[in-house]
Amino acid sequence: MIQRVSIVIRGAVQGVGFRPFIYRLATELHLKGFVLNSPTGVFIEAEREKEILNVFLLRIEKEKPVHAIIQSMEFSFLDATGYTQFEIRESKSNGKTSAFILPDIAVCDDCLKEMFDPNNRRYLYPFINCTNCGPRFSIIESLPYDRPNTSMKIFKMCDDCKKEYLDPLDRRFHAQPIACPNCGPHVELLTPSGLVLSKNNNAILQTAEKIFHGKIVALKGLGGYQLICRADDENVITLLRKRKNREGKPFALMFPDFGSVKNICEVFPFEERLLKSPEAPIVLLKRKEKGNQELVHDSIALGNPMFGVMLPYTPLHHLLLRELQIPVIATSGNLSEEPMCISEEEAFQRLKNIADYFLIHNRPIVRHVDDSIVRVILEREMIMRRARGYAPLPVELNCEMEDETYLAVGGHLKNTVALSSGKNVFVSQHIGDLSTQEAFSAFQNVVDDFKKLYEAKDVHVVADLHPDYLSTKFAKSNFENVTFVQHHQAHVASCYAENKLDGTALGVSWDGTGYGLDGTIWGGEFYHFDGTSFQHVAQFRKFPLPGGDLAIKEPKRSAVGLLYEIFGEEIFNKQNDVLKHFSEQEKIILLQMLKNKINSPLTSSVGRLFDAVAFLTGIKQTASYEGEAAMKLEFAAAPNISNCYSFDLLPGEVLIIDWRKVIETILNEMKNKTSSKIISAKFHNTLVEIICSVAEKSHEEKIVLSGGVFQNAYLLENAVHRLRTRGFKPYWHQRIPTNDGGISLGQIAVAVNQKKLKLVEAV
Ligand code: ZN
Ligand code: ZN
Ligand code: FE
Repeated sequence: MIQRVSIVIRGAVQGVGFRPFIYRLATELHLKGFVLNSPTGVFIEAEREKEILNVFLLRIEKEKPVHAIIQSMEFSFLDATGYTQFEIRESKSNGKTSAFILPDIAVCDDCLKEMFDPNNRRYLYPFINCTNCGPRFSIIESLPYDRPNTSMKIFKMCDDCKKEYLDPLDRRFHAQPIACPNCGPHVELLTPSGLVLSKNNNAILQTAEKIFHGKIVALKGLGGYQLICRADDENVITLLRKRKNREGKPFALMFPDFGSVKNICEVFPFEERLLKSPEAPIVLLKRKEKGNQELVHDSIALGNPMFGVMLPYTPLHHLLLRELQIPVIATSGNLSEEPMCISEEEAFQRLKNIADYFLIHNRPIVRHVDDSIVRVILEREMIMRRARGYAPLPVELNCEMEDETYLAVGGHLKNTVALSSGKNVFVSQHIGDLSTQEAFSAFQNVVDDFKKLYEAKDVHVVADLHPDYLSTKFAKSNFENVTFVQHHQAHVASCYAENKLDGTALGVSWDGTGYGLDGTIWGGEFYHFDGTSFQHVAQFRKFPLPGGDLAIKEPKRSAVGLLYEIFGEEIFNKQNDVLKHFSEQEKIILLQMLKNKINSPLTSSVGRLFDAVAFLTGIKQTASYEGEAAMKLEFAAAPNISNCYSFDLLPGEVLIIDWRKVIETILNEMKNKTSSKIISAKFHNTLVEIICSVAEKSHEEKIVLSGGVFQNAYLLENAVHRLRTRGFKPYWHQRIPTNDGGISLGQIAVAVNQKKLKLVEAV
C-alpha cells in the first residue's frame, strides 16, 4: 500500500545543499512528492510503500550534507495523495510567519567533542552549547529570541565568547545561551540545609560518588529538577518510592551510552533513531529476557515488560554518567502528581525530604519542561507525553482560522493547553493532573506564558464541558464567551486534525472518564464526524461506579458495578469472589449506594471495563495510578490467540454495545480455570471485533481511533490490522498524545469548525 510521509525538519538546513540532497535520495528511492524550503523549516512530502519510506527517513539523518544540522525532525504518516513525480518546490512566502520557538535540543556531537578535549577552553564545562544545540524553550522569556530575552541575560559574555558570538563563520554565531567557564553559569553540590560541599567539576565528581554510594540526588536539569539514584539497588528504589509517594509507577532510566541500552533492552532501528535524536525522549523499550538484569532492579517497573529509557541529553548529564558508567533512575523532581520544581527556592522547599543532596546551577529555568515519553507502535512514533524536544512546535491544521486566536485549556488529567495562530496550533508542554495546587498554578502560568509569548490579546477560549474540571472553572471565571466541547468529541477531532483528514469518518473515542452530554461519565463512544459536526452513533452499555472517582484506584469497585449491572442485588447474597475483597461494613454501604444510586455514577467507560476485567481475572487487584490495571491486562494477553467473546449490539438511536455476555463467559471460564492470559487476549480481540462491527454498520471507510485506551499496543495493533483486512482505513495518533494530552488540540479543532459552520449558515 502506498503511503505518504509528511516531514518537517528544523535546524541549519538552509543553504547547505539540503534540498538537492533530499531530491537525490528521493529520486534514488523512486519516491514521489516534493521538498520545499520555508522560513519555518524544510517541508518534505514523499509517497511510496511504508518500508521504503522508513529507509528514506533513516537515511536522511545518516547521509545528510556535512554542514546540515537537524535540530528537530518531525514526521507523520498520512494518506497518499497521488504525486506523480518528485520535485523541488518554490518557497511559499505566505505573509504571516508566526513566531517559532524551538524546543530544547540535546547537546550536539561537536560540543561533546570539545567538552572532552583537555585542550579546549570549555573542557568539562557543563553548559557548553552552540547554535545547533542546547536550551531554547526552557530559557526564553519573550520573543524575539535574543540573549536579553533569555534567562542568560544575567551572565555578561567574556571577550572570547563575544568574539565567537559575533563571528558569522563560528559555530556559536548568535548562539544565545553561549557561555564558558569564565563567564557562564556553574554548578554546586549542596546539602538539603544549603551547605555548599563543592563546586564546578568537583561537584560533579562528588555527585557521582554520592549516587554511587546509594544517595538520592536532586539535579537541576534542563527543564526542571530531576531525582537521580542507582537503578540496581532495591533499598534505594524503595526509599525513593516512599519519599516521593510514588507506589508502583515505573521510573525512567538514563543509560551512560547506547551500547549499555542494548545489553538490557531490545532496540529496533526507529527506537535507536529516537534515543539518539536531538529530541532525545524517554523511549519505551522491551526488556530483554536474558538481559543483564543486575544493572537494573525489577522494582523499577514491576510486572512491566518495558523500560522507559533515555540517553544523556545535556552536557551535565554526559559528565555525570561518564563518571558513573551505570544506568541510573532519572525521574522528575516532584512529589507524585505535582509538576517539576524549577527554582532553587522551590526545590529546597519541596524536595528537602526526598533528596539527600542537591546539584544545582545558576542558569534560571523559565518554565518547566518534563522529559517526553515516546513509544514505537506499528512502526510509527507515538508520543505519550509531549514536552522536552517537541513542545512548543505547532501542529498545522487543514483549515485556515482567519484572524481569530483560540486558546484551549484542555482537560483535567495529563493537561496541556493550546493556542492557535493562523493555521498553526501550538500545543503546550505536558502540565499534568490539575488536582494539586502546584499543578494548577503551573497550568495558570502556562496559559499566561502562551498568551504573552505569542502576543495573543483577544482570545476565544475553549474548555471541556465538565463543570467540575478546574480548567473549565478557570475558563469560565476568567473569560467571556467560552466555547465548551464534549470530551470524547475533542479526542476524535484531535486525531482527525492530526491526520489532516477531510470528509466523513467514524470516530472511536475510548478512555477512562469524560463528562457526557447526559451528565453521566462517558468513555466508550462512537461518533459519525464530518469535520464539523458530530453524531453519536454508539456507546457501551453503562454500569454504576460505586464511589465514583475512587474506582480509578480501586478496580474492585468497577468490578462490583459491572456485576451489579448483570446480576443485581443477588451478588450480595451468595458467595462472591469479588465481594470478599470488601469488609462486611463496606458491603452494606456498597449495596446501599448501588440500590439507592448514591455516589454511583453511571459510566460507559472502556477504561473502567478494562479495570473490572483485570480485577475479575485476578491479573491486577489494586492500582496505584490511573490505568495501571488496564495496562497489566494488556501485558498479560497471550500472543497468537484470535478468537473472541460474543456480544450484542442493541439497536436504537444510539447503538448500545452490550458486554454482559462477555463478562458472563469470562466468569465461566474463570470457574473452568482458563488461563487469565487467554482471557485477556480474547477480551482484547472482542474489543477489536466491536470496533469492526460498528464500523461495518456505519458504512464509513475512515476509522479514527482516539482516547487513552489506545495507548494499549495490543489493542491498537490488532484493531488497525483487522480494520485494514476488512477494507477500512484506520487512523491513530502519532505526534499528539492519544490520552488527554491531546484534548487541547481537539478543542481548538472543534471550535474552529463550529465557527466556520456558523459563518456558512449566516451566508
Ligand atoms: Zn553544540
Ligand atoms: Zn565566556
Ligand atoms: Fe480522555
